[in-house]
This record gives sequence, structure tokens and C-alpha cells, in this order.
Amino acid sequence: TDITKIRNFSIIAHIDHGKSTLADRLIQRTGGLTAREMSEQVLDNMDIEKERGITIKAQTVRLEWKGHVLNLMDTPGHVDFAYEVSRSLAACEGALLVVDAAQGVEAQTLANVYQSIEHDHEIIPVINKIDLPSAEPEKVRAEIEDVIGLDASNAVLASAKAGIGIDEILDAIVERIPSPKGDPDAPLKAMLVDSWYDPYLGVVILVRVIDGSIRKGQQVKFMQTGTTHLVDRVGAFRPKIEQLPDLGPGEIGFITAQIKEVAQARVGDTLTDAKKPAAEALPGFKEVQPVVFCGLFPVDAADFEKLRESISKLRLNDASFSFEMETSAALGFGFRCGFLGLLHLEIIQERLMREYDLDLITTAPSVVYKMRLTKAAGEAVGQEIELHNPADMPDPNRIEEIEEPWIQAVIYVPDEYLGPILKLCQDRRGIQKNLTYVGGRAQVTYELPLNEVVFDFYDRLKSISRGYASFDYEQIGHRAGDLVKMSILVNNEPVDALSMIVHRSTAESRGRGMCERLKDLIPRHLFKIPIQAAIGGKVIARETIAALRKDVTAKCYGGDASRKRKLLEKQKEGKKRMREYGSVQIPQEAFIAALRMG
Ligand code: GDP
Ligand code: MG
Repeated sequence: TDITKIRNFSIIAHIDHGKSTLADRLIQRTGGLTAREMSEQVLDNMDIEKERGITIKAQTVRLEWKGHVLNLMDTPGHVDFAYEVSRSLAACEGALLVVDAAQGVEAQTLANVYQSIEHDHEIIPVINKIDLPSAEPEKVRAEIEDVIGLDASNAVLASAKAGIGIDEILDAIVERIPSPKGDPDAPLKAMLVDSWYDPYLGVVILVRVIDGSIRKGQQVKFMQTGTTHLVDRVGAFRPKIEQLPDLGPGEIGFITAQIKEVAQARVGDTLTDAKKPAAEALPGFKEVQPVVFCGLFPVDAADFEKLRESISKLRLNDASFSFEMETSAALGFGFRCGFLGLLHLEIIQERLMREYDLDLITTAPSVVYKMRLTKAAGEAVGQEIELHNPADMPDPNRIEEIEEPWIQAVIYVPDEYLGPILKLCQDRRGIQKNLTYVGGRAQVTYELPLNEVVFDFYDRLKSISRGYASFDYEQIGHRAGDLVKMSILVNNEPVDALSMIVHRSTAESRGRGMCERLKDLIPRHLFKIPIQAAIGGKVIARETIAALRKDVTAKCYGGDASRKRKLLEKQKEGKKRMREYGSVQIPQEAFIAALRMG
């Protein structure tokens, strides 16, 4: 393809402002699919994505419009996938900024548009949903200018739903977004934008060619992983698969190369020609590491093998999540899994439950702690270990120092919610670094321990701000902290799945919260159940679930003493069993609810 005829763009928007609907329209208008084929939203192709209204895996579609090739790149819309978003944006020269004509600029609009500006994108504002009676396009136009500082005089007024402004958007893409630049004669240099497992094709790799070209039969080298593969297919999605002889500079498309696992095809890697390699890789490759860990256990122990198979299958398609076997006294056999963040955790958990029909118990999410142990006999320095599981916490006497991961978070929020947001950050041991105002919005920067964020920070942020706050974060390394392991005892037995590592200053309130929640969540039994939070041997919080009064002997008329005794014995046995399997008697919803810190 003639490079001057190529336009690469993504669509950025606050959730629900119409990104997917617009993408579908663009595909339909350019003839990619018939109206009947469009009945399903094409770009959000997983159930969970559709339900949550977020895009997890980037998908790209090649459109043709008036002699030009338009590559529409969909981007994941959540901070857990920040690196994938950044790679997708780096593969484009421009973006459509979709803003709801009735809602106006919202937090996510800002976060997204700033990222797009950082990538030097030409941004085309699209004021969508002008068909709504409550639409105020002129007000929104002014808002885009005041709040974001973008010229919106030539914003396109559109309705993705009613099909208004679609041709204008396509024309604007051709006219305003610059064509990519690249040298067709230089050695191949292509960025690996995304990869996923397809049951028919194997691992499919989405690439953006920078220089040179990639073709079938070529030996390509992955510069970061160092492996070499033979390209056996080259093509594009329109959105149906179409094979092409090659992809030249500026083009976006896919290749397959008989790769078995996505772990071999890491986002951000550089592909080059194995025989005539580029001198250096593209900048910015980042090996993404799981930052949140939790245990996943089958409710029914008999499902363990099924869980193993299902997790292995998911892993084929998602190199960013990790797993290894784990055993728990309360929950039996399961897996310790690592995720990019809480949403990532929820997505994997939901897919296992839904697609693989598994009933699961998830333990409290934990971050990765680094610790140095005290010197053992004969050791020059104390051993350094990484802790992924609170249950593996060494004896406190053996710990010289513990470090926890910290993040720098940037929060955008309308003024009126600033107070409670600052309080939330303070309560979570945050250190305020910066506070500025953009229009009627505050932008606050905080350093926070990740430990305080993995529980429910995002949910709290959203509820405090009625959905208006958005945040973005990056990791800034480990720092020492006064961290302790808190155990939860139900009926005097520690429930290993509920133990967690907390900062000493927040232990008591965390412990009290957990006990209170468990008190409401665990159904009453025939005997009373103490619930305690403890650090070491010291109880720091306590609640009791009152016994359910039920006179089992009431039905025994008269004096059949032996029958009465038998019944009482049976009840005692029940109690014993109850104690033995104490934690398993906790309903699964109670577990999940208890682990979602309030
Ligand atoms: P996304 O989260 O940005 O991908 O938003 P969607 O495309 O999923 O749209 C969110 C909701 O807004 C859906 O119910 C759409 O049908 C609706 N919607 C999208 N575009 C328009 C529009 O132009 N007019 C109206 N009235 N509704 C729209
Ligand atoms: Mg969508």
C-alpha cells in the first residue's frame, strides 16, 4: 500500500460515550460487513467486555475509504492494561475523541486524551449522540476547548446510533490525520502491538510495521525474547480475515508464525528480519509482571483437575497472568495466580466461572512483598525473599525488613468531590505530591502503597465521586514499611484464606471491618461462633455470631430417653464437623464479599 494513503487511528472516549457503536458504524459504512453481520457489536467480542462495557484485548480493523486504507485500532480501556493501551496508541498517528453530547467531558475523557496527546496524535473531536433530546453540542464544544484545551471549532457532530456524521468522520480522518512515515528499504522493524491465541490459527500477532516489510516465508527475529520464527501468514482484519502478500511501512496487520503460546509473543517487542536485522530495537519494551496475587480454589474439590485445565487454557491467551499450585488447610488444592491488577483478576475469575463453568473461591488479593530475613547461623547476610502469599509469611522474629510496592497515582476529579477523595488517599497512607486545577476539575497526584489500592480503592473512588473520578497509576518501586500478618479466626480456627498482610497502623480498623462483615455474612449456626482478627497471638478485633436456638428434642414426645440422646449426639457430631470444616461452611458469597474490603 502507498504509505501516503494510510491512516492509523484509535477511538478514545469515556465509558458509554459510544466508542463501540461508532466503530461498528465505521465498519458498516466502509462495507466491511452487512447490516445483518453487524447485529453484534464487532469490536467487543467477549461477553465480559460487552457486559462491563470495557475492551480488554485490542482489536484492529482495516477499512477502505475513498482510496485510502484506514486502520482502526481499538484500545483496552482500563489502567490494569495501561501498557497495552500505550502500545496501541503508539501504533497510531491520530485519534477520534468521542464525547457524549449530553454528558460532556468526563474524567476518562481527560485521562485518555492526555495519553493520546503524549503520543503526538492529531485529535479529531467527535460530539456524539446529538440525536438525544438532552444533547447540548455547543456547550460540549466549549467544554472540550476550556477543559482539554483542544480546538473544537471543527468537531464533527454525530450520532453513531442514528448514523449521522459518519461520512464526515471518515473524511476528517483522511484529511486531518497525517500518514505514517517509514523507510521501505531499511531492515524490517515492526512493533508487536498485541497477540492472542486463536484455536485455528495458533498465536496471532498484531504488528505495526515501522520500516521495511514483513512477508510470508520470511524468518523474523523477536529482538527482546531473542527467538526466530518463520512467518506463515500475513494479513488484515476487515474485520473478516484477509491474507495479504506483505505489510509495508506504516501498515498494521497480523502475522502467524507457528507460535504455540502468547508468552513467546510479548506486547512491545520488536520484530526484525533474522537475516538482515535492524541495528536496534524500538524503545519502550516493558516486561509486564503480575502485581496482584490471589489464590483460586474450586468450591468442589473434585473440580481441581478441571480448574487446572481451564487455567492452562486461559494462560495460552494471556501471558500476563501466572499460576502455580497452592494448598490451603481450609480450601484444599488450588492455584496461586498473579495478575496485572484487580480488574484483570476479576476478568480471569469470571471467565473461569462462566466459560469453564467452575465454582471458585478467591482469597484476599495480595501484592508482592520483598523481605530480608535475619542472618541465620553461618550466613554473611540475611536471605532476601519475595512473598506472594500471606500464608507463607515467615515468623516475625526472622524478618529484618519488609518492603512493599508503591505507586504514583494521578486522579482527575470534579472540584466538588475533591475533599472526600483527599481523605480517602490520606486514609490509605497516601502522600500528596501535587494538586492542580484544569477547568472545574482537580488533578491530584499521590504516592500510595499498592497494598492499600488493591482492595477496593477504585470502587471507593468511583462511589465517592459518583463515577466522575478516574485514576491512572504507575509503579515506583518498593519501600520499607511496618507490615504485619493479620489472621482471621472463625470459631477459633485461623482461616488461612482470609489472612492478609497489613500496615500496623491500619491493622485494627481492617480487622474490625473484616470481623463485622463476616458477622453479617456468615449465617447463624446452632452454636455461637466467635470471629477474631489477630496479629501473632494478640486478638485485635472480635465479634460473635449468636447461636440459632433450635430445640432438636422438641419433636420427641414423652420420655423416649434413648432417642433424645441419639439426637443430641448427632447434633454434637454436626458441630464437630462444623468446626473441622469451619471455613468451608462459610458461604462462597460471604468469602467474596468479605474479601472485598469495605
Ligand atoms: P462505549 O462504552 O464507548 O463503547 O459505548 P457504546 O458504543 O457501548 O454505547 C453506550 C450506549 O450508548 C449504548 O447503549 C449505545 O446504544 C448508546 N449510543 C451510542 N451512540 C449513540 C448515539 O449516537 N445516540 C444515542 N442516542 N445513543 C447512542
Ligand atoms: Mg465499548
